[in-house]
Amino acid sequence: MTTVAAYAASAAKAPLERTTIERRAVREFDVLIDIKFAGICHSDIHQAREGWGEAIFPMVPGHEIAGVVSEVGPGVTKFQVGDRVGVGCLVDSCRECDNCKAGLEQHCTGGGSVGTYNAIGKDGEPTYGGYSEKVVVDENFVVRVPEGLALDEAAPLLCAGITTYSPLKQWGAGPGKKVAVIGLGGLGHMGVKIAHALGAEVTVLSQSLRKKDDGLKLGADHYYATSDPKTFEELAGTFDLIVSTVSAPLDFGAYLSLLKTGGALVNVGAPEEPVALNLFSLIGGNKTLAGSAIGGIAETQEMLDFCAAHKIGAEIELIGASEINEAYERVLASDVRYRFVIDTATI
Ligand SMILES: [Zn+2]
Ligand SMILES: [Zn+2]
Repeated sequence: MTTVAAYAASAAKAPLERTTIERRAVREFDVLIDIKFAGICHSDIHQAREGWGEAIFPMVPGHEIAGVVSEVGPGVTKFQVGDRVGVGCLVDSCRECDNCKAGLEQHCTGGGSVGTYNAIGKDGEPTYGGYSEKVVVDENFVVRVPEGLALDEAAPLLCAGITTYSPLKQWGAGPGKKVAVIGLGGLGHMGVKIAHALGAEVTVLSQSLRKKDDGLKLGADHYYATSDPKTFEELAGTFDLIVSTVSAPLDFGAYLSLLKTGGALVNVGAPEEPVALNLFSLIGGNKTLAGSAIGGIAETQEMLDFCAAHKIGAEIELIGASEINEAYERVLASDVRYRFVIDTATI
């Protein structure tokens, strides 16, 4: 066991404070990672405040982890000391079910995947996330951060990047395709960058035009305010694919009307309450309303390689650990462009 410093919430809604946690001794297939940077994902806040149901405290959030390997177990073949690596939302799964074998570890049906934090590992111990100095992870759940991708800008790719890359790939974003991204936050800004790099014609659908200049700089070709009813008239039947990154309740019927025949609206954000939908908005035009959850480990590596090849990192605001609580408030107020990343040397 190794004692490491971390920032933890001791109870729901308690502010995060500096503490120490124990990391397990490195086992045969484990990698010890010196964490350099950890992104702040909106879901960290939901979980630390027990907004998604029962949570495990103390909680060390953080599933956007980038660092450097400092020790490997004797059975490790994929990584060496000194390698630049990342860890996303998962640190384990059964590895034997059909989904795990198909590279969909996030949908493991053999007991479920193990979250990077706020979960119980196979050893019966709670998992602790990236707001800490070090983490021990099985090599099969560690990905390589390619040279050319700065570790601080890479950290948010481990959740925000893969969450948008996976549906864009799966639903065919590419040359000749018109893709819309709803919301220009932590997820949305990555969706715009990746869709643009895939070669699609990209439109941002945002509540207001407040971030229009940013959106165009990030790679969007068009930018519309959804608070303006004319937007829905003008863009009716336009898109092959819409990816919604927002968790506010939307008028899904209105957004489905923006799809071409055969188009798809994929949700990666979700409102807390059920939504009402007139199914004629799907039937007319053979449309699809779909969901997507992060991505598997191999696809996460593919995403990092893609981002490195296209020189795509997240737009970040680097903060010290003492600023985490303030950063949470700013995330809730949508006052971040576009991801807070903790410099873990300040823990
Ligand atoms: Zn996340
Ligand atoms: Zn499985």
